[in-house]
Amino acid sequence: MRQCGDCQLCCKLLPVPPLRKKAGERCRHQKFGKGCALYHRAGMPPECAIWNCRWLVNDDAADLSRPDRSHYVIDLMPDYITLQNDGDGYQQHIQVVQIWCDPKHPDAHRDPHLRAYLSRRSDEGIVGLVRYGTALEAITIIPPQMAPDDQWHELNSNACNVKQEQQHSLTDLMEAMGAPARMAVTP
Ligand code: SF4
Ligand code: SF4
Repeated sequence: MRQCGDCQLCCKLLPVPPLRKKAGERCRHQKFGKGCALYHRAGMPPECAIWNCRWLVNDDAADLSRPDRSHYVIDLMPDYITLQNDGDGYQQHIQVVQIWCDPKHPDAHRDPHLRAYLSRRSDEGIVGLVRYGTALEAITIIPPQMAPDDQWHELNSNACNVKQEQQHSLTDLMEAMGAPARMAVTP
């Protein structure tokens, strides 16, 4: 069984709407060295009560470091991005695994162990989406297995035909998911 120990990185990096806490903002209930002041108390948001990261539940994460050491948190909740062709309006949704990266360590997502994890996800037609806070700061990570040139690609929203949106609801996610396909992106 894995345990959070001294790690509290998700409490800083992820948004918690009931608390009006934005992504990347330290939670006001987070106490240094003590953890959550609301833990198992009334007032703890349900999002927090049921939250686990993929490292904690060891979802194919045996070779990954604890988030406070790797400086990124892999979300259990999937999301999607939209590939769009402005010429004919064609759109395709691609499922992503969300990786919340500590802005103090912006290159942490280049961890070789995370790249190996994303390579394994590509077998399921899933790519990585690194979030730093707002949607505009997101980077799509495309493994070689899903790229036309068999190379890794890091695509930000201003440099390609990938629309990186705010987090979607579960309903949106279920409606949007279609058959995975090899991506034809413009780096
Ligand atoms: S990021 Fe994961 S290991 Fe760290 S405190 Fe949150 S749930 Fe625990
Ligand atoms: S309420 Fe507690 S668990 Fe939720 S973000 Fe704040 S410190 Fe973390």
